[in-house]
Amino acid sequence: MKVLKFGGTSVGSSSSIKEIKHIIENQNDKILVVLSAMSGVTNELVQINNKLKENNTDIQIHIDYLRKRHLTVINELFSPKQNTEHIVEYVEEILEKIESFKKEYLTKERESIVSTLGETLSTFIFSEYLKASEVSNKLLDASFFMLVENDENPNLKVIHTLFEREVERMEDSNIYITQGYIRIDRNNKISTLDRGGSDYTATILGAALDATEVQIWTDIDGFHNNDPRFVDNTRPIEYLTYDEAAELAYFGAKILHPKTVMPIRKKGIPLYLKNTFKPESNGTLIFNDSKYFGLKSISAKDGITAIKIKSNKMLMAYGFLLKIFEIFEKYKTPIDMITTSEVAISLTIDSTKKLDKIVKELKAYGEIEVETNQSIICLVGQSIIEDKGSNKIFELLNEIPVRMISYGGSENNISLLVSEENKVTALQALHKKLFPKHINV
Ligand code: ASP
Ligand code: MG
Repeated sequence: MKVLKFGGTSVGSSSSIKEIKHIIENQNDKILVVLSAMSGVTNELVQINNKLKENNTDIQIHIDYLRKRHLTVINELFSPKQNTEHIVEYVEEILEKIESFKKEYLTKERESIVSTLGETLSTFIFSEYLKASEVSNKLLDASFFMLVENDENPNLKVIHTLFEREVERMEDSNIYITQGYIRIDRNNKISTLDRGGSDYTATILGAALDATEVQIWTDIDGFHNNDPRFVDNTRPIEYLTYDEAAELAYFGAKILHPKTVMPIRKKGIPLYLKNTFKPESNGTLIFNDSKYFGLKSISAKDGITAIKIKSNKMLMAYGFLLKIFEIFEKYKTPIDMITTSEVAISLTIDSTKKLDKIVKELKAYGEIEVETNQSIICLVGQSIIEDKGSNKIFELLNEIPVRMISYGGSENNISLLVSEENKVTALQALHKKLFPKHINV
């Protein structure tokens, strides 16, 4: 079995849905297809939730958008001779369900149900489209088997058992289709993975079902060696290790949800990142093999806050770091980057929800400086520092104020902290210095 996941833009229009059909038909294996909601749809559903939470029932504009998005695709996908009445009815039923929540108290579960309706719709429409094109398939309701009690550590065995039970109830098929993003939580209630979590659904299922491979289809041909939104002449990377991919996904490369590689890494299941709109291009293969050394890619993550704690108490003291970290632990705020000197610690966080409380407690330990709107520039590869030419990274210091530098936590990563306004210049300068061969490609 292979797992193929298609993202929001891949299911976002009738023409892209037709592309997916071709891709699926070319697989010579049993497949499980995981779909996202059509691009933009989950945002709309989240807006509905936000309004309902504030007792604002003025959601017509969103309902209209959702109706139009889905009915347009249905109209374009099916020929006039094909019967689409039941599909249109299904869309209307879903919209009515959302409307019905206007009158009732919005529970956590109802909120989750609303946010996952985009996936409910996209999978239903796609399954019906395949059937109408005589491609037999079975649509599976992910809420029957995606029991993910602990988001960090899904119980793959339970998911496997529940999936098998579901599949045994129906006729055998070569193509199964299911929804990304949705999960059942420890209280047996419908819930969601984080935003963008359909990637994670795919690898959880891939690992649970011991898939031979997982393919994630998006609108870009794999990880690039720099951020194509800000830098010209980037190129796709053919191979990455799980660790490298995890670092890149975490530090800003938007293509993958940060948790995606976690479930498949242990089992060594290969992960292919492919472009729905250019299926012939290689994309990126993520695997264990680290046959390629050196620097592979640069990415950046915005919205970072740097905190500096300066204290004479730290001088030759032990246990100081522990006390500092305990404060972050208490407020469940992860630290991304850290550097220390004898009298100061600098660290970064990307969630500022508890910043005020954290700073208040930190003040007991020294002088505190906070700088918001920072970016982490992350250089990823194998043994980067041994790579010839990597010393050029430090030439950046002549051009841009770099607030922190961190290397050594892993051999895969050098992180630099710059202010957000210098991010693009830093990405471009590093690209020129570190990937000179590709400048004129
Ligand atoms: N539809 C969900 C979102 O937009 C999940 C996903 O697309 O991965 O966040
Ligand atoms: Mg995504």
